[in-house]
Amino acid sequence: MTYRIMIKGTVQGVGFRPFIYQLAMRHSLRGSVRNGVEGVEILLNASTLELAKFLQEVQMEIPPLALIAEIDTQRMTPQSFDDFRIIQTEEGGEITVRIPPDVSICQACEAELFDPQNRRFGYPFITCTQCGIRYTIIEDLPYDRHRTSMRFFQMCTACESEYRNPLDRRYHAQPIGCHQCGPRLSLLDHTGGEVPTPKDNLITVAVKLLLEGNIMAVKGVGGYHLMCDATNEAAVHKLRERKQRPSKPFAVMVKDRQMAKELACVNAQEEVLLGSKERPIVIVKERVPLPVGIAPNISKIGLFLPYTPLHLLLLHKLNRPLVATSANVTDEPICTTLASLEMLNGVYDYVLDHDRQIVNGCDDSVLMVVGGQQVILRRARGYAPASVTLPFSLKKHTLAMGANQKSTVAIGFDDQVILSPHIGDLDSIGSVAYYEKNIQTLTRIYDFEPSCIVHDKHPYYESTKVAQELLLRQAQKADNQSVTELVEVQHHHAHILGVMAEKQLTGKVFGVAFDGTGYGDDGKLWGGEFMVCDYEGYERVAHINYFKLLGGDRAIKEPKRVALSLLFDLYGEDAITLKNPTVEAFSESELHTYVIAWKKGLNAPLSSSVGRLFDAVASLLGVCHVMSFEG
Ligand SMILES: [Zn+2]
Ligand SMILES: [Zn+2]
Repeated sequence: MTYRIMIKGTVQGVGFRPFIYQLAMRHSLRGSVRNGVEGVEILLNASTLELAKFLQEVQMEIPPLALIAEIDTQRMTPQSFDDFRIIQTEEGGEITVRIPPDVSICQACEAELFDPQNRRFGYPFITCTQCGIRYTIIEDLPYDRHRTSMRFFQMCTACESEYRNPLDRRYHAQPIGCHQCGPRLSLLDHTGGEVPTPKDNLITVAVKLLLEGNIMAVKGVGGYHLMCDATNEAAVHKLRERKQRPSKPFAVMVKDRQMAKELACVNAQEEVLLGSKERPIVIVKERVPLPVGIAPNISKIGLFLPYTPLHLLLLHKLNRPLVATSANVTDEPICTTLASLEMLNGVYDYVLDHDRQIVNGCDDSVLMVVGGQQVILRRARGYAPASVTLPFSLKKHTLAMGANQKSTVAIGFDDQVILSPHIGDLDSIGSVAYYEKNIQTLTRIYDFEPSCIVHDKHPYYESTKVAQELLLRQAQKADNQSVTELVEVQHHHAHILGVMAEKQLTGKVFGVAFDGTGYGDDGKLWGGEFMVCDYEGYERVAHINYFKLLGGDRAIKEPKRVALSLLFDLYGEDAITLKNPTVEAFSESELHTYVIAWKKGLNAPLSSSVGRLFDAVASLLGVCHVMSFEG
């Protein structure tokens, strides 16, 4: 009997077809396997018993990076096959296959990297089907080399024969390459001129420059990092000054788990997370004091392990921790090209560059273990694009625009939602352009035309403006027959809906949204909301009492203003005579100005934000009156 087995989920670019091939070989079954837009399609001649055994083993021996969402088996008109074959990718149709995220180098590749006998010894881009870059090099789906930025590299004979051999670990490993044929490193000074390096000694020179206290921009997976020796106080200080970043902590890359444990208190769960294939930045408790400039006034530190062969080569030679912070200008997206790195001219001394293009920018992910649970603070490399299965089916192809701060976009079809990586705050022209590029990437790769666009209720959010522009552009298309719907959603209702979707909740829920600020139905800045709601709508049953944000937006950056406003609410004008850190943080004349502003409600919008209450307490305790970053 001939069966057609359709497997959906993360099944491309993860060694799935060779896995199926080897399984079929083992069972002496005939047929074929291929990648399609929906997933992997297998045709198999088998008895019912053989089929059952085959499917069981597919699920039990699944390659580590693969994730099966659905297996659909149908009987077909009998066909005959001479053998079992991997056939070419099918094109067209609705794309539902998931884009594989970028993962760290695997153990097998790491072993080869440090094996002097291996032909890829010391090759900074070593990879196989079980590891390395994916999302950041994909231009389109299905995932094949000619639809990635690896298409500019012609495989050498040795690589090609590995690529074509279904029994090889690098069978159809799209980013395959070697010293001879793959991407290459280059070392540049701050003017873009090549630094002369003796043959095969580029890494050694780069490490020497780092040890001398230089700041180096290093091209990674989803963008450049700015790196410097984390044990060199002067270098860290120089980086802060040049980047004009007074206190937001820097992440630190450590050679291995051992080094992580020397620097920080790392529990078993955190250790597993640090070494996971996603290799996120993990926030842990500091053990030994690092240079004060790394995380000023904070006893926690963000650590991560090398996740590319290039990082491994650097860290092994260096044998000390490296500051590794995203290379970007404040409020701008991460730099992904040498040209965009120009904006940071004056910040770095050298660039460790390579010639493999980053198609989709992606930051490092940030996680934390809280109460035994992994909490994702920033979902990006290794975790994105992520997909969520809804407890219901969407009636329309939906594009969700996210908010203005820590924005993320998503597309939804059937019961699937695909989330973009973390994009960031939409506070600059560059970041809005990056946001629009993320929308284009998702919609292009999935060949997705929205019939419904959902945006935040806030009239002035950039995300709202982009939603309106998209609608306009769609309406102007001559051939456009369908009408796209624009739907606004209240910020905190959206927060609760997000949790409902993640936890697959249906029916009515009682949701509590404690937030910074979001636009409320009454035009006030909500942020401490108690709602009874479902997917259709909500009732705001309670909220934190309104208080005034003295100075409007400036109160968000200056906790002392919120604290003072609350003191006025409690003590009236007499508040200015109190002796406490908040009052002392203002000058006499400022205090008199704010009394008037508070009394008359001048530039003092009302808010029910819990985030602002936390800020106010920080000011009252003398911890922080003016902040330069959110944490
Ligand atoms: Zn590998
Ligand atoms: Zn090669």
